[in-house]
Amino acid sequence: MEDIKKAAEILINAHHAIAFTGAGISTESGIPDFRGPQGGLWKQYSPELASIDYFLQHPKEFWLFYRMRMSTLFAAKPNRAHHAVAELEKLGIIKAVITQNVDGLHQAAGSRNVIELHGTMRRAVCLACGRTYPMDVVIKKIDSGQIPPLCDECGGILKPDTVLFGEPVKDFDRARELALMSDAVLVIGSSLSVYPAAYVPIFVKEMGGKVIIINMEPTELDYIADVIIQCKAGDAMTLLLKEIKDRLGIQ
Ligand SMILES: [Zn+2]
Repeated sequence: MEDIKKAAEILINAHHAIAFTGAGISTESGIPDFRGPQGGLWKQYSPELASIDYFLQHPKEFWLFYRMRMSTLFAAKPNRAHHAVAELEKLGIIKAVITQNVDGLHQAAGSRNVIELHGTMRRAVCLACGRTYPMDVVIKKIDSGQIPPLCDECGGILKPDTVLFGEPVKDFDRARELALMSDAVLVIGSSLSVYPAAYVPIFVKEMGGKVIIINMEPTELDYIADVIIQCKAGDAMTLLLKEIKDRLGIQ
């Protein structure tokens, strides 16, 4: 409880705070942690399946596997933690969310300024011309037998617009700029072990800002944290949002 109070104080006093989120914020929505220690979905099969090399060599097999996975992921709804993050943005406490997740649940909860470092599974992109397609359009192509799905414009192969192993992260320059202008970062549900994403809290710390970490397990960057809350994302964010609203006198 002391930690929640300390975190609330840091966020209220910050001039420019951001959130940084990982798989742990979406586990309560039923989305498995793909790279996490337990139940990593890719591990259950083979991480090679999620690499760009595998995709380029076996686009048909990749899409068949991906299509199977998507049914669960598309049914997922944002949870308490996503909603709390969105509300903190509406209150002006948080200016942006930088996420490692590809599930689109921050936007579904109402967050507006979201940077998706690992892309999004809500979209596919043509490898030849770069045109993007909403995933429901792509699913229709697959379900009508077009595997791999192809671009209407140029006939190129479509790829989920997520960052596969072996591909560079997206929008990292924007994320770095935001981190460097921030004096506080609220990390939620990330083990902070995947780079370059994990540089985000490091940049904030290096610029003299505060680092709050909410995660079930210890993280690799606990040593730079000002506050560590080892707890479920939903529980911690519910308490934190209430504490902030109480202090601001908001119902
Ligand atoms: Zn195309």
